[in-house]
Amino acid sequence: MQRMTGTLYLVATPIGNLSDITERACRTLAEVDLIACEDTRHTGALLKHFGIKTRLISYHEHNERERAAELGQSLVQGMSIALVSDAGTPCINDPGFRLVNIARECGARVVPVPGATAFVAALIASGLPTDQFFFGGFLPARTAGRRARLAELKMMPATLIFYETPHRIADALRDAHEILGEREAVVARELTKLHEEIVRAPLSELAEKFAAAEQAVRGEIVLVIDRTSLNEQAAGQDSEMDIAARIHTLEQEGFEPRAALKKVAREMGLTRAEAYRRLTAARSRNRS
Ligand code: SAM
Repeated sequence: MQRMTGTLYLVATPIGNLSDITERACRTLAEVDLIACEDTRHTGALLKHFGIKTRLISYHEHNERERAAELGQSLVQGMSIALVSDAGTPCINDPGFRLVNIARECGARVVPVPGATAFVAALIASGLPTDQFFFGGFLPARTAGRRARLAELKMMPATLIFYETPHRIADALRDAHEILGEREAVVARELTKLHEEIVRAPLSELAEKFAAAEQAVRGEIVLVIDRTSLNEQAAGQDSEMDIAARIHTLEQEGFEPRAALKKVAREMGLTRAEAYRRLTAARSRNRS
């Protein structure tokens, strides 16, 4: 007799306040054959709180590859599996992506059971525009990488959202102010928890406040930054045109296209990726 392929449930759990778990999440976690989680002790405590006794198996960034294959086999054998993270929505800056693809490849159903996710909670409470936003996960830990990433995003006409750690938030705010210029921003800390704090101010003020913090900043943090202003966008379009013109001149002088781009990026203090982005934007604007 042929067995039916199983189902993978992607179950969101709370980001702090246990009351944020959904009825459907509890029912799914109680009914599946197996729960794959990042930390069995952490999820064990959550299950105990809700009186759920389902078997747990670890699935985290260090065993993701092998575990995903094993779990894929279990799905083929018809098991139902729930994937959870330590907090919030699995796959959002947490493991899961690989398992979802394996499940799809082996013909299992993939069922989202939505709920809390920190960046959405921060965005809606920020008061910054929600019509278009860009979620960038964690900014690079090193200053040069972080500044390059911010430079790439500078002209994006969308609210920018990042996850940040307490020991890097002051540096991230300083770099955001230096690279993006003055903008409204929000630091959302410990969302849904006892010490929830949502501070909104211009980037320069936030950078100063967090640099001067007498006690080490604690807890979990989301950083939300307002989009580029129309003036900045216009300035950006000018600089895109400047790049295109400068590259054209260099090419006329005999520079290879790649060498010309590298030289212009260095002259303008941009990463090569950002210079290339501006160049293609200028060229497509010229074509339209
Ligand atoms: N999967 C999670 C989600 O759906 O939001 C995100 C996991 S990511 C590894 C952890 C980061 O999310 C933290 O470092 C912090 O930046 C953010 N985060 C999680 N819970 C939070 C909370 N209660 N308040 C503020 N930020 C939070």
